[in-house]
Amino acid sequence: MARYTGPVCRLCRREQTKLFLKGERCFTPKCAIDRRNYPPGQHGPGRQKKVSQYGIQLREKQKLRRIYGVSERQFRSYFARAAKQAGVTGEAFLRFLERRLDNVVYRLGFAYSRSAARQLVAHGNIRVNGRKVDVPSYLVRPGEQVSLNEKHRQNPVIQQAVQSASVRAMPVWLELNPEVVEGKITALPNRGDIDTQINEQLIVEFYSR
Ligand code: SF4
Repeated sequence: MARYTGPVCRLCRREQTKLFLKGERCFTPKCAIDRRNYPPGQHGPGRQKKVSQYGIQLREKQKLRRIYGVSERQFRSYFARAAKQAGVTGEAFLRFLERRLDNVVYRLGFAYSRSAARQLVAHGNIRVNGRKVDVPSYLVRPGEQVSLNEKHRQNPVIQQAVQSASVRAMPVWLELNPEVVEGKITALPNRGDIDTQINEQLIVEFYSR
C-alpha cells in the first residue's frame, strides 16, 4: 500500500492518542485529540465496541506504523529482518525504525515532524558524511554524520527548530552541533533510548500469528 497522504489528525483520533504527526500544532489547544477524542466517522462518538486480543494487537501495530509514517510493506520487511537477528525481536524492530534517515533528521530537530523531515530528505537537502542522500528509509550507522545543505542551513525556520532541539534532551545515541547544524550517530539505540510510547511485544505477537 502506498504511503498515506490524507488528513493526519484523524489517524490520532482513530488510535485515540496523540501520535504527534503535525509538529507544533500537537502541543496547542488546536490538537484534535484535545477537542474531539473519539474515533472519526459517523459512528465515532457513539459506539463502544468490545475489542478482541487481535484488535488490540492490530491497533498497536497501526499506531507504531503511523508514528513513523511507514508503508505496511516496508514495516513488515523491517519485522522480517528483525526476527532474523539475535536478541529481542521487538527491540531490533524499533531500532530499524529509529535508524531511518527521516527519523534521525526529526530527532536531531532539523524538522518539527517526521513528515517534514521526510520531505527535507526526499527533496535532496540532507547530507550523510557530506554526500547527498535523498532516500528517507536510508538506515544510518554509528559514526555517520547528518547535516543540511548550505541553503537550508540558513533557513530561519530550520534554525529555530534546531535551536529549540538543542535545549531539549537529545537521545543519547545522537549528538547535535547546533552551530553548524550537524548531527552524529554515536551508537545504535537501545530500547531504553527510544521514547516511543508503544508495547512492541503486541506487534511481535501480531506478526507471529
Ligand atoms: Fe495528532 Fe498532532 Fe493532530 Fe493532535 S495535532 S491530533 S497530536 S497530529
